[in-house]
Amino acid sequence: MRDLITSLDSARLGFYKSILDEAGIVSFIRNETTAQLTNIFIGPLQPTLCLVDEADFEQASALLRPHQMSDETHFTAEEDWLCPACKESNPASFEVCWKCQTAKPE
Ligand SMILES: [Zn+2]
Repeated sequence: MRDLITSLDSARLGFYKSILDEAGIVSFIRNETTAQLTNIFIGPLQPTLCLVDEADFEQASALLRPHQMSDETHFTAEEDWLCPACKESNPASFEVCWKCQTAKPE
């Protein structure tokens, strides 16, 4: 799993997701519900479009680049980290392991 784009506008992320769907790239939107419930956007709680398979990252970036707005954060070459407890790979933006909630090592 890998973060691709974060945006304050979850409808826009839905649009991006439809582009990826058409290209056969599997993705999902994280924090969509959180954002709707709280209406407060803080860092990691922003709606984020994520790729299930990080091998699709380059292709997905290329597909979405022409559509992107300048106020969006586009994740680039951030290093993933390996969970010391369960050995899962986590995106750099995650502060805890998505699988077992172990804190990111310093
Ligand atoms: Zn873990």
